[in-house]
Order: sequence, then C-alpha cells, then structure tokens
Amino acid sequence: MASSHHQNDLSTGFHPQFKSFATEAIHVGQEPEQWKSMAVVPPISLSTTFKQYRPGDHAGFEYSRSGNPTRNCLEKAVAALDGAKHCLALASGLAATMTISHMLKAGDGIVCMNDVYGGTNRYFRKIASEVGLVVSFADCTKIDLLQAALKPNTKLVWIETPTNPTMKVVDIQACADVVHQHNPNTVVVVDNTFMSAYFQRPLALGADICMYSATKYMNGHSDVVMGLVSVNREDLYDRLRFLQNALGAVPSPFDCYLCNRGLKTLHLRMRQHFKNALAAAKFLEADPRVDQVIFPGLPSHPQHELMKKQCTGCPGMITFYIKGKLENATMFLSNLKLFALAESLGGYESLAEHPGRNGDLHTVKNKWIQN
Ligand SMILES: *Cc1c(COP(=O)(O)O)cnc(C)c1O
Repeated sequence: MASSHHQNDLSTGFHPQFKSFATEAIHVGQEPEQWKSMAVVPPISLSTTFKQYRPGDHAGFEYSRSGNPTRNCLEKAVAALDGAKHCLALASGLAATMTISHMLKAGDGIVCMNDVYGGTNRYFRKIASEVGLVVSFADCTKIDLLQAALKPNTKLVWIETPTNPTMKVVDIQACADVVHQHNPNTVVVVDNTFMSAYFQRPLALGADICMYSATKYMNGHSDVVMGLVSVNREDLYDRLRFLQNALGAVPSPFDCYLCNRGLKTLHLRMRQHFKNALAAAKFLEADPRVDQVIFPGLPSHPQHELMKKQCTGCPGMITFYIKGKLENATMFLSNLKLFALAESLGGYESLAEHPGRNGDLHTVKNKWIQN
C-alpha cells in the first residue's frame, strides 16, 4: 500500500514534501514485468556471472561486479528518491567516498567541510593526502571561508549537513553557487546520510553528487553496511560507473535486497524519527540537568530557519550536553535502559554514544543521543 504524501503538522514551515515519494520508493525499479516469473518482490540474484547468447551479446548483465539485477532494482529506486537520473550502490559509505575520490588525480584539490563524519576526515587526511590529493578543510557554514578555500586546482568540495556530531547546518544551494561560480566543473558532494532522501534532496539544491552511508537511515534496520551515490550529470555517472566496476567496492546482492526492502518504509520511519526526536529534544531542553540541546528541528537551533528552507523535516539525531563532568556523562550512558550504548545512528532501535571517546572522533567532548 502506498500511503499519501500530504504534510503532517510536524513539517509545517519546512520545505514541501517531495511528490509521490512513498509511491516511488515502493514501485520504481520493482516492476514485476522485468522477471519472467512476474515476481512482485525483486529476486536475489546471487549468480556471479551471466550466460551470453553469443560473444559480446548478452541480456544486459555480464559479471556481477559490473552489474547485478538485484543491485539494479535498488539503484533505480534510490535514483528516483533522490530526484536523480542515476544511482550506484557501493560496499559501504566509505567505499562510496573512496570511489568518488578516485575521480581525481594527484595534485587535484579537495575542500572538505571542517566538521564531518570521523571516517571521512580520516580518509581525506590519512589516505587521500598520502596519494597526492591536496586536502584542506573549511567551515562551509561561512560562505566567505569556503570561497577563500577554493583554489585553481580544487576539483571536489565535500559537504555534510547537518554535521556529525555538532549538528551544524550547511546551506547547500549557497555553497554550490559559490563553487560553481569559481569553476563549473568542480564537483560538489553532499553526504546526505543524516537526512535520508526523504528529508533532503541535495541535487535539487545544486549539488553534483548526493552520497549516503546506507548503513544508516536508508536501510534503517542496522543489518546492512552499504553506500549509495546519486547523480544527474552523465559524465559523472559514466566515470563513477567505470570506477564502481574497476575498483570493485560493490555490495552483495543479499545486502542490496535488504536495503531495497528498507526503502519501502523510509517515509514512515523518517516521520516517526522526527516526531520522537522532537519530543525527546523538548524533554531534554526542559530538564535542569541538561546544559544545551542541539537539534535542528527546535527553534533554539541557530540554523533552524535554514533547516526549514532546505529540508522537509528533521531526522532523529540529537546532540546534548549534560551539566557536570565526564563522570556525569559516563553515569548517564551507563544507566540507560532502552537505548543501547553503540556507534551508528540507530535503525528502529535507539542508540546513544559519546563521540569524544569513540576511536576516530577527536574533537567533541559532548554527549549525544540518537533516537
Ligand atoms: C556512517 C557514516 C559514514 C560512513 O559510512 P559506512 O557505511 O560506515 O562506511 C559516512 N558519513 C556519515 C555521515 C556517516 O554517519
């Protein structure tokens, strides 16, 4: 059943919801007519290779790294949800980051938002920089600082919004405009993991690439590690598709099946995350033991208006500071009943973590909860 897509009260004042989202999540790429069996649910095609009629003549698939029927279904559905022409599925969010970075060559520059997912930061600083890419970091919430960071060799600008875990909101359209004025060929990438396709469409806001760790909301059930990359530009698609096959960081057909299934309830899950997070954020904000709550869905967030302009709602991520010392934070996290103390965003279950004490996040001393 495809549910209607009228606005609920929560989203009042936000960007209008994307038309036919739920219907597309359920139907695009899933046409039973593509299978001889007319299966309503896409089958899991485990075969690593596909028989050819005669040399060079095949039914659209050759070898499962270069193309797989189950992966195809997922990629078509995600492209529709991103308002994109094409999507590519990769083995993880970081595999997507690596694959995108391989479009560049030694000497090319990357400007990265100065507050990004720890693994993205680690990849750019410890791997991309080591193989000759010139990586710099800028606070992209300040457009003049982004502008100053753009150099003649800048080929890629990497944005994340809201940022992990300090929840800064970046104006995607403003960034894309400045970057493309500097050089129309510089590729603007938005890591859309926190928002999911349901709440934010970076390509419609001027970005060239929208990427996800599908490990998080897009799959939504904490049982798949995967990355997704959506594009409209044909040249970028051709290059990324070549790299998907040539680098080989592809997901398994079984994981593609699971992620494809997760998408069917994305609209329901995200609405509920928003509702629950708003209630939790208001509760925390009213508690005298809490110092500060950072949730872009609350009017107290400094970029709440920007959030409403570019997003259709807010995901379930809340950062908050507890009064007192590290012991207070430790005590709080050690005594949680329903929230598991674990890394990641949570799927149907809720998680809490202290990013300051997770291996590769190094700056944040706060506590944060994910609903
Ligand atoms: C988890 C995450 C990633 C990395 O994705 P993996 O699937 O874990 O490789 C990238 N960006 C953000 C915002 C994330 O939360």
